[in-house]
Amino acid sequence: MCGIVGYVGKQDGVPFLLEGLQRLEYRGYDSAGVAAVKNGTLRVHKAEGRVRGMADTLPKRVAGPLGIAHTRWATHGPPSDVNSHPHVDTEGRVAVVHNGIIENAAVLRAALEADGVVFASDTDTEVVAHLVARADGEELEDRVRAALRQVEGAYGIAVCDATVPDRIVVARNGSPVVLGVGNGEMFVASDIAALVRHTQQVVFLEDGELATVTADGFRTFTLDAQTTNKTATEVDVTDDDYSRGGHAHYLRKEIGDQPEAVRGTLRGRLDHRFATSRLGGLEINARELRAIRRVKILGCGSAYYSGIAGAHLIETVARLPADAEPASEFRYRSPVIDPETLYVAVSQSGETADTLGAVQEVQRKGGRVLGIVNVVGSSIARATDSGIYLHAGPEVSVASTKAYTCTLTAFALLALHLGRVRDLGPGDGERLIAGLEALPAQIEEVLETEEHIAAVAGRIADATSAFFIGRVAGFPVALEGAQKLKEISYVHAEAYPASELKHGPLALITPDLPTIAVVPDDQMLEKNRSALQQVAARGGRLVVVGHSDPGDGVADDVLLVPRSEPELDPILLGIPLQLLAYHAAVALGRDVDQPRNLAKSVTVE
Ligand code: GLU
Repeated sequence: MCGIVGYVGKQDGVPFLLEGLQRLEYRGYDSAGVAAVKNGTLRVHKAEGRVRGMADTLPKRVAGPLGIAHTRWATHGPPSDVNSHPHVDTEGRVAVVHNGIIENAAVLRAALEADGVVFASDTDTEVVAHLVARADGEELEDRVRAALRQVEGAYGIAVCDATVPDRIVVARNGSPVVLGVGNGEMFVASDIAALVRHTQQVVFLEDGELATVTADGFRTFTLDAQTTNKTATEVDVTDDDYSRGGHAHYLRKEIGDQPEAVRGTLRGRLDHRFATSRLGGLEINARELRAIRRVKILGCGSAYYSGIAGAHLIETVARLPADAEPASEFRYRSPVIDPETLYVAVSQSGETADTLGAVQEVQRKGGRVLGIVNVVGSSIARATDSGIYLHAGPEVSVASTKAYTCTLTAFALLALHLGRVRDLGPGDGERLIAGLEALPAQIEEVLETEEHIAAVAGRIADATSAFFIGRVAGFPVALEGAQKLKEISYVHAEAYPASELKHGPLALITPDLPTIAVVPDDQMLEKNRSALQQVAARGGRLVVVGHSDPGDGVADDVLLVPRSEPELDPILLGIPLQLLAYHAAVALGRDVDQPRNLAKSVTVE
């Protein structure tokens, strides 16, 4: 989940490396470092903290036409200067940057130590530097291959050697590595975000693939030295897609992107003629779709919460039993895989290690998996039998907003499709299509109420804890609302079904503990009203998110959203909660885009 960048060309690569690290900092940001090779000498500079701090103290002599750099999200050893990457061998000749986890690092380390190697850091990564330095092989790529044959685990890796100053060797197993093709120069990165300012011509490595990258080009091959003839593809993403667009934070920009992002998810997918959705990536024919008896959704974090909402949508619209489960748990509990179940894996990045693990578990047992993914060409997108791309545009902020909303939209499309091959009538199909088409403008309407939401956020920001409640369709909205608040503002937040309050948590209600209640005008309205009364009667502060004021003066604040079709209400109800969390985090002076301890694209377990 860290960021890797590399440069080999004719000019000094360090400016590119630093700029690339800034672009990738959202993926991991507890420490950063650079290694550059010039005139056969390797120089390394690295430091705990943000890229900016490391760059500010970078000595001028760390420069050269070849270099690798890294921004870390620690898994082995705390964030510190010595644990930062790049890691070097004892002679300071070979440098390595690594994304992922070397699972047998302890065994490899013990063997190297028994052989007299003194380690400088606590990391798993350092073993790779020593293994490469000590490996036999004529070419650097042979030595990297020999080292990696001893390594178990997940990695995206870049290696350079001061004695071979014309090349970087990169390898991928479970963590993305992409090459960027320039003119007389080549770039390497763990994410195209670092490259698109310089080139749109890229090469994605596959798992088990390595590449030798020189100023004039690249060669790709496997761990067994079989050449894989790859050619560059063009990506239609530009540097602008990664800009903050005049906003103080990516998160705010991405909340504002949602009308357009939802349009992207819907584009070309609504079929008025048959009152259904057209899902090009869904390579399952109507007969097979009819044979599905259950839907099981797998994801982590906000993707999991979107799955709970998605399961409800599918069950309501298509009348198919559906549920969601954290992919991180599912993969290890030896799940029974049912051939009549459609498994759906949700991941913004398409690289979430736990979700990919769950996909592989289903497939290994013969199950069928559909992916709902934002990043085109990502691991989950390629591993799944068929899929729905979100087309939400890049999401940079660690906390998901537009990908979450677009995932719900994609679930609505899937539910419509599954419904229309079953018992959902064309009238209901048309009703949902109209509801979906109205969403972007309705999201705009919610965004226009930002000032009011910010004022409410200011009033709850000093709470140490908050409850989020909702029922049935509103409950997953509450779950995601609590998730948003805790991850970016660090205010402890818990979500409960409103019906569960009286079974325990009501004991905690005091005037200091705000309750954010998701109360749409749906069939649960009356039941929700009594939950609100129970909170109000105990002096609890209430913020209601819904279609109207619940009346009786119970709500201290009301955040209104426009009415949609009942099945689609959760999509709109989530938007004020994103803005609420954002403004609470801003009021508290939090690092909104890079909350502590978290990282985007969780490519480790
Ligand atoms: N496992 C390595 C470490 O702890 C790499 C972590 C990362 O992906 O940033 O240093």
